[in-house]
Amino acid sequence: MSLLSDRILNMSTSATLAMAAKARELRGEGKDIIGLSLGEPDFNTPDFIKEAAIQAINDNYNSYSPVDGYAELKEAIITKFKRDNNLTYTLPQIVVSTGAKQALANIAGIMLNKGDEVILPCPYWVSYSDIVKLNDGVPVEVKTSIDTDFKMTPEQLEAAITPKTKMMWFSSPCNPSGSVYSKAELRALADVLVKYPNIYVVSDEIYEHINYGEGHASIAEFDDMYNNTITVNGVSKAFAMTGWRIGYIGAPEKIARACNKLQGQMTSGANCIAQRAVITALNESPSRVQFMIDEFKVRRDLILGLLNDIEGFNSNTPEGAFYVFPDVSYFFGKTLRGTTINNATDFSLYLLEEALVATVTGEAFGNPNCIRISYAASQDQIIEAIKRIKEAVS
Ligand code: PMP
Ligand code: GLU
Repeated sequence: MSLLSDRILNMSTSATLAMAAKARELRGEGKDIIGLSLGEPDFNTPDFIKEAAIQAINDNYNSYSPVDGYAELKEAIITKFKRDNNLTYTLPQIVVSTGAKQALANIAGIMLNKGDEVILPCPYWVSYSDIVKLNDGVPVEVKTSIDTDFKMTPEQLEAAITPKTKMMWFSSPCNPSGSVYSKAELRALADVLVKYPNIYVVSDEIYEHINYGEGHASIAEFDDMYNNTITVNGVSKAFAMTGWRIGYIGAPEKIARACNKLQGQMTSGANCIAQRAVITALNESPSRVQFMIDEFKVRRDLILGLLNDIEGFNSNTPEGAFYVFPDVSYFFGKTLRGTTINNATDFSLYLLEEALVATVTGEAFGNPNCIRISYAASQDQIIEAIKRIKEAVS
């Protein structure tokens, strides 16, 4: 009998976290690694949020919170959904979790039976596929390319639907491509989905504020999608709070109640100090964090300009999030400084070893032709990293 379960043996390690760990390890050995692998703002959490957490400690918030979150936090989430997304939710429709990651794991845990299919437009965020598989679901990948700005068309969606389709998961702005679905594009997908009332959408909107284009749209805004959509969000990205671990959902009540039940057996309520701080974060206008988004936009333009200068890097123009996802298949089959590059994983490892720049292979996101580069780093780091990459591939 094997020590470890088939479940864990069949699971991949999170490639983003693995690359970050490898970069940390190499740095520990004295190597000057520039880490552009992890999707994590390099800003500090804003002071007004930190002060709310300090206040919560002094106010003796030290007990278990309700499993699905403090009522005041759920009220703040309801206000936020209305203010930013024009979505109306009530208290029993909200569940607060330990990061959007746990929110996603909850959804998979309460909705999937063995063999249920989940449509994942590629590229998708690294953990979707393994969270689905861990819960006996079957990921159905829909390939997209740079030609459609890495967005799934309604025809592709329709072709992927089978009698076993239970859900469709996507992020907009997308991690890793930075693509943003416009309201019209979401409507076109919704026009397909409304023909299949048993299919649910998981709309991961964690990058909603990190948007440089025409603005954010939520698929649940359409009346005919509202009852079939679970809107996932969190504070990690826009508020630079990755380590605080707060995410949340707005969902049909039955789904929210089931998530609450599952979470009650797995982890209980999320960290109570972090929850109190997030009340303050969400009750403030998003304009309080606009300075970070403005800076990300400057960096996006910087990194795109630098990458476009390197032969073999073919990027879309990301409209949101803080990643570029260049197609690097030009290098496949080529030998660089004695190393043959067969795929994106080889290329990403080559960049780590030769340029001392950590990126993530696109294979982890369901696109084997690309690599993901995070530009949540200082402008100096970005300039130095791309200079090193250019030298390593020329
Ligand atoms: N969804 C996407 C698209 C992400 O990039 C991340 C990154 N962490 C998550 C969910 C999970 O976020 P959290 O830190 O809230 O768990
Ligand atoms: N979401 C971030 C990323 O994609 C954080 C790492 C993770 O949770 O996987 O890099």
